[in-house]
Amino acid sequence: MRRNDELAQWDRDHFMHPSTHLAQHARGEAMGRIIRTASGVHIEDRNGRRMLDAFAGLYCVNVGYGRTEIADAIAAQARELAYYHAYVGHGTEASITLARMVLERAPDHMSKVYFGLSGSDANETNIKLIWYYNNILGRPRKKKIISRWRGYHGSGLMTGSLTGLEVFHAKFDLPMDGVMHTTAPYYFRRDDVSQSEAQFVAQCAADLEEMIDREGADTIAAFWAEPLLGTGGIVPPPKGYWDAIQPILRRHDILLVADEVVTGFGRLGTMFGSEHYGMRPDLITIAKGLTSAYAPLSGSIVSDDVWKVLERGTDENGPLGHGWTYSAHPIGTAAGVANLELLDSLGLVDQAGAVGAYLNARMAEALADHPHVGEVRGDGMLCAVELVADRDPRTFFEPDRKMGATVVGHLAEQDVIARAMPGGDILGFAPPFCLSRDNVDEIVEKTVTAIAQAG
Ligand code: PLP
Repeated sequence: MRRNDELAQWDRDHFMHPSTHLAQHARGEAMGRIIRTASGVHIEDRNGRRMLDAFAGLYCVNVGYGRTEIADAIAAQARELAYYHAYVGHGTEASITLARMVLERAPDHMSKVYFGLSGSDANETNIKLIWYYNNILGRPRKKKIISRWRGYHGSGLMTGSLTGLEVFHAKFDLPMDGVMHTTAPYYFRRDDVSQSEAQFVAQCAADLEEMIDREGADTIAAFWAEPLLGTGGIVPPPKGYWDAIQPILRRHDILLVADEVVTGFGRLGTMFGSEHYGMRPDLITIAKGLTSAYAPLSGSIVSDDVWKVLERGTDENGPLGHGWTYSAHPIGTAAGVANLELLDSLGLVDQAGAVGAYLNARMAEALADHPHVGEVRGDGMLCAVELVADRDPRTFFEPDRKMGATVVGHLAEQDVIARAMPGGDILGFAPPFCLSRDNVDEIVEKTVTAIAQAG
């Protein structure tokens, strides 16, 4: 085994990490952990330090770490057939079986799935499919996309533009033409604190309608949204939000894309977030929970109605000119099959719902009267604690104070990993679904301590 100091040096010298302060890392000031192994809800670094991962990696290791069933499926697939492509109709037992399993679990009106590698590329695929769809329908002007401030849809060129968090835009000159961001459904951070939840929802709907009228519905192809804002702060939609938004989209013939990269496959205690919140999407983006991150794999799911137009398009124009070398990779799809089987056999979706409810209730109870906690919110196995300088009147900490990151640091000192969500002092918790109630008690107790330490 290599020495830790040698690895750390190579890391500084050669490894350009994602979402990292590159200069600080290269100077050795922003070093992460070098992880060696993991099991259940715990990861272990090379010094033997064991930590409870209350963010499941990047909310993706849903079935928990160290599942030999998935590791064995990957190994068996690699031995039998590590790779063959899926172009011109080719497939493997794993890719065809997984397509079937995804559609069995997806909402009834969905029809087909296209496999990719990451949430970002699956969203890019959905953008291209929607543009293709409107071209086939003879509506070449209907191409703009509306997403929401605080939405997160990836780091690609178009998907980075759809993302409504400025930190992901800065200095990249992303192609923002044709992408518009509407009001984030984030009631706690509403501009007008006197608004009721119902008034705020009405405003979100009015803002959307006004944007559509201004731009012209004949220029707008799709509305892109996570069922619940994830990276933007773990914010469940205010009551009535989807009931207010969807009729507007239908009235203007605008497709609804549910980005279920976080919520797909059980995180809210239901198979899909769409069903959880009564959404009827035309396309769905999936990734993380599809394989619980045991291998990179994503998917773009299309409805029957969208499919019929795509089908017609290829009859008229020939094959769909869109593909990745690794689309429907045999190892990724083998991991996906084993992962979905495990979700079912262990009842992990129900567990995510039940233990997630316990996590949210315990966290809310423990921090109910805390002067620096403005809100505890969440749904299923997702929970956020929003820190404030003052509760009444609602006052946020100065960004320089980095309260969220400080509390997350104090949690790490106690061997619990949470995430400081971008765009505010928000602690995010998104543990693996196999979390126990004892784990919850530990997380909550240590969070209370960490907030106290931060002052
Ligand atoms: N969409 C959502 C809702 C996400 O949360 C993410 C990643 O966190 C993505 C898309 C992008 O996925 P990836 O990082 O796999 O490209």
